[in-house]
Parts: sequence; C-alpha cells; structure tokens
Amino acid sequence: GSDHLRHVDSMTRVPSGAGKISYLNAVVLGEALASEENDLVFPNPELSAQALVSSPEQYAEMYKKSIEDPAGFWSEIASQFYWKKKWDPEVFSENLDVRKGNVKIEWFIGGITNVCYNALDRNIDVGNGDKVAILWEGNEPGQDGKLTYRELLEKVCQLSNYLKDVGVRKGDTVVIYLPMLMELPISMLACARIGAVHSVVFAGFSSESLSQRIMDCKPKVVITCNGVRRGPKALALKDIVDSALVECTKNGFSVGLCLIYENQSAMSREVTKWQDDRDVWWQDVVPKFPTKCEVEWVESEDPLFLLYTSGSTGKPKGVLHTTAGYMVYTATTFKYAFDYKPSDIYWCTADCGWITGHSYVTYGPLLNGATIIVFEGAPNYPNPGRCWDIVDKYKVSLFYTAPTLVRSLMRDGDEYVTRYSRKSLRVLGSVGEPINPSAWRWFFNVVGGARCPISDTWWQTETGGFMITPLPGAWPQKPGSATFPFFGVQAVIVDEKGIEIEGECSGYLCIKKSWPGAFRTLYGDHERYETTYFKPFLGYYFSGDGCSRDKDGYHWLTGRVDDVINVSGHRIGTAEIESALVSHPQCAEAAVVGVEHEVKGQGIYAFVTLVDGVPYSEELRKSLILMVRNQIGAFAAPDKIHWAPGLPKTRSGKIMRRILRKIASRQLNELGDTSTLADPAVVDQLIALADT
Ligand code: ATP
Ligand code: MG
Repeated sequence: GSDHLRHVDSMTRVPSGAGKISYLNAVVLGEALASEENDLVFPNPELSAQALVSSPEQYAEMYKKSIEDPAGFWSEIASQFYWKKKWDPEVFSENLDVRKGNVKIEWFIGGITNVCYNALDRNIDVGNGDKVAILWEGNEPGQDGKLTYRELLEKVCQLSNYLKDVGVRKGDTVVIYLPMLMELPISMLACARIGAVHSVVFAGFSSESLSQRIMDCKPKVVITCNGVRRGPKALALKDIVDSALVECTKNGFSVGLCLIYENQSAMSREVTKWQDDRDVWWQDVVPKFPTKCEVEWVESEDPLFLLYTSGSTGKPKGVLHTTAGYMVYTATTFKYAFDYKPSDIYWCTADCGWITGHSYVTYGPLLNGATIIVFEGAPNYPNPGRCWDIVDKYKVSLFYTAPTLVRSLMRDGDEYVTRYSRKSLRVLGSVGEPINPSAWRWFFNVVGGARCPISDTWWQTETGGFMITPLPGAWPQKPGSATFPFFGVQAVIVDEKGIEIEGECSGYLCIKKSWPGAFRTLYGDHERYETTYFKPFLGYYFSGDGCSRDKDGYHWLTGRVDDVINVSGHRIGTAEIESALVSHPQCAEAAVVGVEHEVKGQGIYAFVTLVDGVPYSEELRKSLILMVRNQIGAFAAPDKIHWAPGLPKTRSGKIMRRILRKIASRQLNELGDTSTLADPAVVDQLIALADT
C-alpha cells in the first residue's frame, strides 16, 4: 500500500532545481561570485540554441518520461541500432529489487545484436565508410596515423578471423595488455565481433597485478606489444608479460598463445625476448587474414567485457558488462553529455585500460560514428603544451580529461595554453574525482576561453556510463558540481539507516532501480556483487560515494566513503599498498593513508613499522618504495614513508586511521579523542618521528 504510493510519488519526481532556473538572463559569470553554491555559469546562448537539450524545461520533460516509462523511453532509442532480432517488448527488462531475492539485472530481453556491428558496419551502411574513425597521435610529435571507418572494419575483421582461427570462440576470454596504439581499440572490437570477452589490463600495471588478473579470468590468448615509449621513457612491455605468465604457470594456469604487436618506434623485434612455442608476431599473421568477417550474433545479456577495478580490499573486482544495455547506454550518454554533432572531433585523454577508455574512447563515440583521437604519449611531453598542440592540429571540439591533468597543467602556467588557438573547442569534460572549483575555473576560463561548458561526469566502472552529468546547453553550471542525473537514473541520497533524504542534504549516494549500463555481476563472485553493492542499503545500488545536494538540487560529490586513494586519477586501495609493503622482509606492519597533494589529487603516505632491531635507513626507504612499484606499479609508489615504532590501535587491534590521517596532514591539534587507544604513547612517538 503505502510503499507502492511512495514509489509512484518518487518516480514522477524531477530533480528540483532544474526547472526553476530561468535561462533567459543568460550571462557568463565566470570568477565573480564567492559562494560556489550560488555561482551559476550560464551556457553560451549560441551553443544552447543548437544543443540537443537546450533548456532546463526540455531536460525535465525528457527526464520525467525516462523515469515514468523506461521501456518506452529506451525502446525508442534502442530502435536506432541494428538488431538481428528485436527484444521482446512484453518482457523488456528485469530490474533490480533486492527485496525480491537475487539481484539479476537484464535489459532488452530476447534481443540479438552485436556491438562491433553497430559501431562499424552500421555506420558504414549509412554512408560513413570514408569518415575518419581514429586519428592516432604517437608519443613523438609528428608521428601519426589514421583509419577511416571502412579501414578500421577491415583491420578488426582480420584480427577477428585470426582469433577464430586459433580457436577463440564465443564466451572465451582474451586479455589485452597494450598501450594506446590503434591496435588497442582494434583488439577490443575484434573480440566483440566474435563474441569473445575482452579484459583490458592497463599497461602501467606490474607483472604481479597482470598475473593476478590473468589467473582470475583465464584467457585463451594474451595480446600485447614488445615495447612502448611514453614521454621520454621506454618500457619493454613484453618482459612484464613474460614474468606474469611465468607466475601464472607456477600457479597452475598456462597461457597457450601470446600475440605480440611489434611497436617498431619503441623497440625492434631483434632485441625482443621470445618463446617459440607460445609467442607470435601480430604483423606476421594478422594481415594474412581476410578483411571480411561474419559477425557472431549474441544475445542482449551475453558478456561484452570484464574490467578489474583497483580493489579497495586487496583483491580486484572483475566488473562484468553485457551487450545490449551497455551499447545503448554508452552511446546515448556520450551523445547527450557532450552534445555530440557529426562534425565534432572528439578527444578523451583516458587510457583504454580504464572504464573511461572503454565507454568513452571506444564504444560510446564509435557507436555514434564519431571521429576519435587515440594518443599514445604523455600530456606533458615534450612540454606541457602538448595537449593544446594536438587540439589545434586536429581541430578537437570535444575534450574530455581528468582533474589531475587539469591541476598539473594549471601548475605549469597559462602561457603553455594561450600560445595555442584552441578555437575549435566547444565542450570540455572531466571525470575521475571531484574537480575542485579552482581547477574548474582555470579549465573553463583559460583552456575554454569562457566559451565551453564543462561536463563534470560522475560515474563508475560499475555503472558503465554517466550517471550524474551536465548536459551542455541545458542549464547553468556550478563549478565543482556534477549537476543532475542522466535520463533514467534515479539518484537518491540516503542516511545511515538507508532512508532517502529530500531537499538540501548530504549522505550516501545510491541509485534506485536499474539503468541499461549497469554491471551484471563481479566475475566469478556474484555473492560479493550482492553484498558489496546491494546489501548495504536494501532496495538500492550503493555507489560507495558520499554526496550532497544543494538548495537548487545540484549534486556535489564528496568522495568515496571508504578508504581508496586516488593518485593522479589512478585508484588504489590502501590495503593493496599495505600488503605490498608488508611483503618486504624487513617490514613488520604498514598503514597507508591519502594526503592532499597539489598535483596528484592525493598522495600516498605510508606509516611503516620495521622488524625489531632493523635500523631506519635511506636505502631501506628506497627498497620499500621499490617493493610497491614492482608489485603494483609506479603510480602506487608512496610519496612519504613515515617510520613508526608502533601504530595507534584500538583495544580490539584495529588501526585508527582517523588519527594517522591527522598526523600525515600535520593537523596535530585535531587528533581528537585518543583515550580508546591501546597505547596512547605511540601517538607522541609518531609525531616525534614525523620529519625524519
Ligand atoms: P574500486 O571500486 O576498486 O575502489 P574505483 O572506484 O576507484 O575502484 P572507478 O570505477 O574508475 O574505480 O572510479 C569511480 C569513482 O571515481 C567514483 O565512485 C567516484 O569516487 C570517483 N569519480 C568519478 N568521476 C567523478 C566525478 N565527476 N566527480 C566526483 N567523483 C568522481
Ligand atoms: Mg569504486
């Protein structure tokens, strides 16, 4: 009875602020106002007039429809894709309601389609065969390449045919460990074409992290390259793969085939170590295969890919996404959040090793027939003007990046930006962590010349696509706010008891009901999926993030509620770094906390207790840091090792991180109550050793 009524009531609720703001007095306010909440930055009227969604009222209307009639709303959009067999309108979707039992999310039930076909063949069929799909920019300026949609399809088909030839079948897993070469999206699409499940591992991960992921998903083939250059550094990527595969064999799983792309500009084949019975050069086999390959038609809920998150509890979570819902959702979110036009040139700086590179380098844009940029190098090489050099070179109109990059370029000074024209830019985007209002303003004013709205997109590996995001042109922005939920997304804020709170408030960000891009399980561990995401607040998907909503209904993300550190956009669980440190023979115990870092967002601060009798030394400090670098990757290396004779613990033996965070940030008069500590004296010892 009443539950039902509450449900209906909140279904028709439209984010409160969106409809109220009159957009007639459009002016660009920029730096003027002091209070962030009241600082409205209006979209430029010209952009608004041509936008897909050009007023708060239009958004409100579409949002309302998407919530009241999800089947109608999404069916209309899905009909623009190619379906071998259309979904069954009678069943359509099975949404989550954990109160009913197991969580089983399904969308477009009964449908048969293929994501690769929709991204390539369908776009060629409507006359975009000669349109550029990928503009590739290498590490060195002047090193570049491109592929039209037709050429891309041919490359994909050759690899698909090769993979089929070596026995990869629908449902088999393929691990991809590649830098940002065109071969990375090509590999992803080739898997999708034949129904194989790709699992891309970021090519900055160490051999241990790679072997862990290989052990978990047991691929038929590993695709990699021999070497890579990123900025001034060269890396023998295949050596890392070799040792990962040795580690796997020791643990009882052997990879039978390793396909290696010869990345000539970084490393020649002559100096590449080789294992004859396992290794094959891409260039020796793939080009021999036909450039046409029949599509493997798959069901809506067949898996598309697996992607591991950083894993706050140590063991990374294998997030599984399926076919139809993911396809429809990434394409639609891309289109609206960037106000995509066919003439746009789109550049997302993320690596395909992260979810952003899946949904918004590869699938979302290509499904829209967009021209994308794939950049192999580092954004500050050979100098901090590189990004704007690329923007001018290709006339980039949509530029999507992370706050950490914005902050680091901001530190390098305006002149690196202003020496380039950047006239082509139309819409900017940000993802990965909350963007500080000061970085937002710099991005808006200096990079975008106060012309380009910023889509600050909040979402997660698990959500597949944008959840809370501005729609450029629809409503005024507030620097640092992700604004309002996307169509079909019922974002709610709940208190500790799981009760929804309305109006101006702050609490845990949850999502009610399901959306097409939602992940369907954690690979091999559905129970962990349910307990992590659906048990904390019954009836909701729990994001793990905190959020507040202001008087106008704008959303402000406050960061994760647990303990993950975000270093330059790379997320890493404290537990994972701690276990790497503790694996050092002279380390007894370690506790890691995040501290504010001007450039990286967060820096890694490690308290380390040594084995009894071992003296502190610079060498030991270095070897501890090396331990983390080798086990996890360079991005996880601690910025600071703080020697700790002991750690503050509760009587039940739990480390009190709250106190460690205060010591790490030197807020010594805010330590709070230390009386529950097993040994309060350790706090003074730690403070005394703070700067040694
Ligand atoms: P794990 O779940 O293993 O800890 P992760 O959550 O760090 O990994 P992602 O899924 O890549 O990995 O990151 C999603 C998180 O990033 C969000 O939960 C949020 O904390 C943060 N985030 C992403 N975009 C934004 C944004 N625009 N504003 C604020 N926070 C953001
Ligand atoms: Mg997460």
